[in-house]
Amino acid sequence: MILDADIREQLVDYLGLMEGDIEIMLSAGADEVSKNMSALVDELASISTRIKVKETTLTRTPSFGVNRPGEDTGVVFAGVPLGHEFTSLVLALLQVSGRAPKVSNIMIDRIKALKDEYHFETYISLSCHNCPEVVQALNLMSIQNPGITHTMIDGAAYKNEVDSKEIMAVPSVYLNGEFFGSGRMTLEEILEKIGSVPEAVDSQSIEPYDVLVVGGGPAGASAAIYAARKGIRTGLVAERFGGQVRDTLGIENLISIAYIEGPQLAATLEEHVKNYNVDIMSAHRAKSLEKKELIEVTLENGVVLKSKTVILSTGARWRNVGVPGEVEFKNKGVAYCPHCDGPLFKGKDVAVIGGGNSGIEAAIDLAGIVNHVTVLEFMPELKADAVLQQRLYSLPNVTVLKNVQTNEITGSNKVEGISYKNRETGEISQIVLQGVFVQIGLVPNTEWLGDSIERNRMGEIVVDNHNATNVPGVFAAGDCTNSHYKQIIISMGSGATAALSAFDYLIRN
Ligand SMILES: Cc1cc2nc3c(=O)[nH]c(=O)nc-3n(C[C@H](O)[C@H](O)[C@H](O)COP(=O)(O)OP(=O)(O)OC[C@H]3O[C@@H](n4cnc5c(N)ncnc54)[C@H](O)[C@@H]3O)c2cc1C
Repeated sequence: MILDADIREQLVDYLGLMEGDIEIMLSAGADEVSKNMSALVDELASISTRIKVKETTLTRTPSFGVNRPGEDTGVVFAGVPLGHEFTSLVLALLQVSGRAPKVSNIMIDRIKALKDEYHFETYISLSCHNCPEVVQALNLMSIQNPGITHTMIDGAAYKNEVDSKEIMAVPSVYLNGEFFGSGRMTLEEILEKIGSVPEAVDSQSIEPYDVLVVGGGPAGASAAIYAARKGIRTGLVAERFGGQVRDTLGIENLISIAYIEGPQLAATLEEHVKNYNVDIMSAHRAKSLEKKELIEVTLENGVVLKSKTVILSTGARWRNVGVPGEVEFKNKGVAYCPHCDGPLFKGKDVAVIGGGNSGIEAAIDLAGIVNHVTVLEFMPELKADAVLQQRLYSLPNVTVLKNVQTNEITGSNKVEGISYKNRETGEISQIVLQGVFVQIGLVPNTEWLGDSIERNRMGEIVVDNHNATNVPGVFAAGDCTNSHYKQIIISMGSGATAALSAFDYLIRN
């Protein structure tokens, strides 16, 4: 049996929810992946009598399609979808069987309205926690529209394809044979990228809010829930619901929850907000804020949202190292997510820039996969916790370079090396390697505010202990502020404080 007892038990429950019959079209050979794939589909068929397996030959062997009897849905898994892709398999089975997906009817209508032929292929790694979101969005599109197909390809099972396409970041999506995009993408983003625009919103038709939250991470979700619980008109606009939590693998310090994976926490955050009367506008970016009679937030699509109070919770993103080669070789050897992209550097030599906790955690993680890791730290000492440093120094395939400044990431069409300066002697050195992971902290998403709100020299919004900014009626919470520590629980707490302060402000004004 390929599934362990726990997973099998969960699967029995899930497959009990299937609403119609499924035909799995299996294209298998004699190799090890084919054997595991055959074992998996046989086990699925042994759990549910609704699932039948038929042997066939597909474009790729090994692979299998998830179809309705006599009807090709276009959903194919090339590789064994266990690890982080197991949920993608379960969802594909349920949705192909006729169970409605958990997305709005507006989105389904947008997918169904697509007229052209779209053949998507997504290269993934089973340890990538950003990949399932993309795989699940494209599978859903494929199930809903006969002109769309989607194949998930496990890079480890199809190493030749990964090498010939020089794929160095997952997920990497191809559309009709051409590179389409890399990294996390929501369903809305994919739809927009292929030209499906959401129906225009008329600014005048949107009633002003009492509280408008900008940002949908832990801070924004918490602020929206606290505001809505006061019974006041609450809106939440976010580019990507969940924020950084979506990029986090395991979370062990959200008090009272011993362990949760990031994407799962993001889903529960969204579900919790949806329990309340909050107007959620996701996949929209705010581009400016102006205090007039009301506070006006203009979105990139031109819509102007008005509100009596605003809570800014736009969080933070990875900081770039800003040396030549970083932008040019992004996804061609320059990476930011060791959990996602680490497996693509198996057996290769890589560098990690940054000796803080995230850099050292990345180096330890990568050392188990790659041939050799070089850590480059700008300061004379590593800043990571002692326990992480001890673990790092115990590893045989890690070199730590301290007091060095990265000069350039070099290569022709992919990363081939890195050059750095010894800050004490000024000597320049070069290392030949194939990957560079940048782990030098975060930068707040506040540039869009310009001079409208006071920010410190790091760009963080300056708040007082009520989470109020210098502009009356505008509050801020979470990683975009000058709070000393940047953590989920702290963001949630400051989101709650900001919402209670906004409510207080509304009563007094
Ligand atoms: C890899 C990684 C691992 C981590 N591990 C942990 C951990 O184990 N425990 C822990 O406590 N913390 C951890 N953190 C930190 C934690 O994730 C953050 O402190 C927390 O997510 C901050 O929440 P936030 O709501 O302030 O911002 P974010 O999570 O950054 O959310 C910001 C939100 O604002 C939106 N947004 C940004 N700009 C705009 C705009 N212009 N218009 C509209 N919306 C916008 C974003 O799309 C997003 O919805 C980790 C962070 C990372 C990157």
